[in-house]
Amino acid sequence: MTDTLTPVLTANWADDRSWTLPSYAARGGYAALDKALGMAPDEVITAVKDAGLRGRGGAGFPTGMKWSFIPQDNPNPKYLVVNADESEPGTCKDIPLMMASPHTLVEGVIISSYAIRAKVAFIYVRGEVLHVIRRLQAAVAEAYAAGHLGQNIHGSGYDLDLVVHAGAGAYICGEETALLDSLEGRRGQPRLRPPFPAVEGLYASPTVINNAESIASVPSIIANGPGWFAGMGTEKSNGFGIFSLSGHVTRPGQYEAPLGITLRQLLDLAGGVREAPNGQARELKFWTPGGSSTPLFTAEHLDVPLDFESVGAAGSMLGTRALQIFDETVCVVRAVLRWTEFYKHESCGKCTPCREGTWWLVQVLARLEAGQGSAEDLDLLLDQCDNILGRSFCALGDGATSPITSSIKYFRDEYLAHLEQGGCPFDPAKSTLFE
Ligand code: NAD
Ligand code: SF4
Repeated sequence: MTDTLTPVLTANWADDRSWTLPSYAARGGYAALDKALGMAPDEVITAVKDAGLRGRGGAGFPTGMKWSFIPQDNPNPKYLVVNADESEPGTCKDIPLMMASPHTLVEGVIISSYAIRAKVAFIYVRGEVLHVIRRLQAAVAEAYAAGHLGQNIHGSGYDLDLVVHAGAGAYICGEETALLDSLEGRRGQPRLRPPFPAVEGLYASPTVINNAESIASVPSIIANGPGWFAGMGTEKSNGFGIFSLSGHVTRPGQYEAPLGITLRQLLDLAGGVREAPNGQARELKFWTPGGSSTPLFTAEHLDVPLDFESVGAAGSMLGTRALQIFDETVCVVRAVLRWTEFYKHESCGKCTPCREGTWWLVQVLARLEAGQGSAEDLDLLLDQCDNILGRSFCALGDGATSPITSSIKYFRDEYLAHLEQGGCPFDPAKSTLFE
């Protein structure tokens, strides 16, 4: 089964002091930068386009196309901003990547900045992960000292400065325009799009914002060629990605595999659904394909190929490939309530449907979970979701409705069982999830 894994970004994670420059250089690190600097910037953009790399932050927008939107006739400076504000519940791929191999990201930043002709780049990291910020800062200092950053990089005449910026711990700052506001020193709230950041972003200048994993994938594309990357994955979802498995799984962690792998295959690699403490087998009940903002899947979706198109056709979204696994002991209503409390807490308050709507969703879900309320509350919940979805200013509001609508679709009876029994029918003592 191990031949279904494609370790590229994760290949050096087990190396001795993999985060240091000598360790990265021993595996040929920064050779891709040399190669890229020998190409014209537009050739680098073409290579990334031909590879078919799509945004790994969740939305799957074609990376090379985004780069080509930067108007080179605009006299303002161009910026590259790495979105490393990884916060989607269940998503844990960028943080381990930056801890284990920060130079993969730094090299990707330099190549990508060269391609869009940026002289200044930023890595925006969530503020809570101080250990990651320190590791990135150390890697950036090593890269400056070795001549990979700063003036006249590798004698090419190209200059780049790279700043590691710590956020202040708000989920909304992962939304790209809120991130820009935060980077400019303001309270992070989404901006109206268009204009998209590629045209008017940081300091109203053309700005490429890409997820950390997307940028970290660039050196391998330059080193091995776009055909190598496009040869993996599916027809429209090319290449590989890091899948984060968490929850009731025997060996949780990061599994790097071609897009199009299934949860069944990943679970085989990860030792399957975790057994009960007494060794008894447990069944998969529900899971998220891309974090809690994506509609839930159940055991009937085990063989859905995890690529953008197939997951969408099956009624969800690939998102961040955060596969949270829940076994039969978990109350789905309680899990959905927990996620909805998160969205309520993280709503930035800018627009009414999300600010007020997430508060009301929690009220109704909480009384259902407690076995109070009535069967009409299910229709009320769906009506509230209908008034949030597509009417909110940014994707946070839409995402908040996903676990609710999908759980009612697949587990309506479980909601009703709470009302019939006057409380939760699940014994929390049997589940290890909410410890
Ligand atoms: P989006 O589809 O609106 O945009 C994706 C990217 O494409 C953006 O960078 C946008 O600027 C660019 N883009 C789209 N149309 C463009 C155009 N016409 N011209 C120029 N650029 C254009 O998605 P989004 O709202 O940015 O992100 C939503 C995704 O974020 C969700 O799919 C979710 O999975 C993901 N998400 C990730 C995390 C995390 O922690 N990584 C957290 C929450 C949500
Ligand atoms: Fe803020 Fe929520 Fe509106 Fe987004 S949807 S702008 S997070 S209130």
